[in-house]
Amino acid sequence: MRILVKGAGVAGLTAAHELAARGAEVTVVDPRPGFGHAASWFAGGMLAPWCEREGAEERVLLRGRDAADWWDAVLPGEVQRKGTLVVAPPRDAAELRRFASRTSGYEWLGETEIAMLEPALAGRFRLALFFPSEAHLDPRRALPALRTKLAAAGVRFVEEAQAEDAFDRILDCTGAARIADRSGLRGVRGEMLYLRSAEIELARPVRLLHPRIPVYIVPRGDGLFMVGATMIEADDEGPITARSLMELLNAAYTLHPAFAEAAVAETGTGVRPAFADNFPRVITAGTTIAINGLYRHGFLLAPAMAREATEVMFAEQLKERNFP
Ligand SMILES: Cc1cc2nc3c(=O)[nH]c(=O)nc-3n(C[C@H](O)[C@H](O)[C@H](O)COP(=O)(O)OP(=O)(O)OC[C@H]3O[C@@H](n4cnc5c(N)ncnc54)[C@H](O)[C@@H]3O)c2cc1C
Repeated sequence: MRILVKGAGVAGLTAAHELAARGAEVTVVDPRPGFGHAASWFAGGMLAPWCEREGAEERVLLRGRDAADWWDAVLPGEVQRKGTLVVAPPRDAAELRRFASRTSGYEWLGETEIAMLEPALAGRFRLALFFPSEAHLDPRRALPALRTKLAAAGVRFVEEAQAEDAFDRILDCTGAARIADRSGLRGVRGEMLYLRSAEIELARPVRLLHPRIPVYIVPRGDGLFMVGATMIEADDEGPITARSLMELLNAAYTLHPAFAEAAVAETGTGVRPAFADNFPRVITAGTTIAINGLYRHGFLLAPAMAREATEVMFAEQLKERNFP
């Protein structure tokens, strides 16, 4: 089966992997070279279905809990299984209890245990939640590595538009580019930044709860930290606003004052494609199938959606063969 995958973000690449693994002849087209325009490039890369359950339906947990295994099997060494630490300033301890009441799979930690897990946070927080089964990866390592692996396995990557009738199936993974013409799809703007500091070390993603702007900080190694992310109902991918920058920096400073001296290495914005229920879909229309609506769960749910789309494509091909 010859398949044209449109879009080389996390949805397109994971699907290309599953399709190629089933023996399909896969071409991936993306008119923009590199990854800098894909929402996937700005992601935290957290594989955190237990934490995400705080604001998401049970099916996000059910379909996302094997994601770390998928990434680990496909890109050995890229997944870090160190759990997630969730903290709140003492005045916001109620936030921590609320978070706990909406999630599962955590342990309560006191000051000593927090210091053992993250020595840099010693004495800064009295209580924390620790989600030991969660994992994370660095999208800026994982995406290029996956693309290289796919190319080595024979997947063709092109930038020029392709004649679609040369393919048996089209898989549309163009994300937010479809907002204007896919009914029910909207954009949720996510602003983030990278900070560089040699003064602080973290081993795992840390979420700081705050009634207005909850943030997370994901260590990337070598003193680099990703700080994210805003959630704004808009599909504008313009530069980060002064307010968002201030709020993210304030939150980083609340987590650790050493961030005040950090260098702002980069700011960025990605538009998360989302449906009304914030759950992704595999949509079939003739010979075109689409994966879209990954919302804030692209790395978490793309493996499950890629498997689902692959099943749909191969089942349909079988049907066509049996009943021409
Ligand atoms: C700040 C931020 C933090 C996030 N953190 C996390 C996280 O920690 N964990 C997690 O799981 N998810 C996270 N997400 C969500 C995740 O990034 C998205 O769900 C995911 O990137 C969506 O992937 P996608 O492949 O659908 O779209 P994209 O990554 O946007 O890829 C779409 C691709 O399609 C291409 N394209 C557009 N038009 C065409 C066309 N006509 N033909 C061919 N190609 C086309 C584009 O160039 C682009 O490369 C985060 C998102 C943001 C913005």
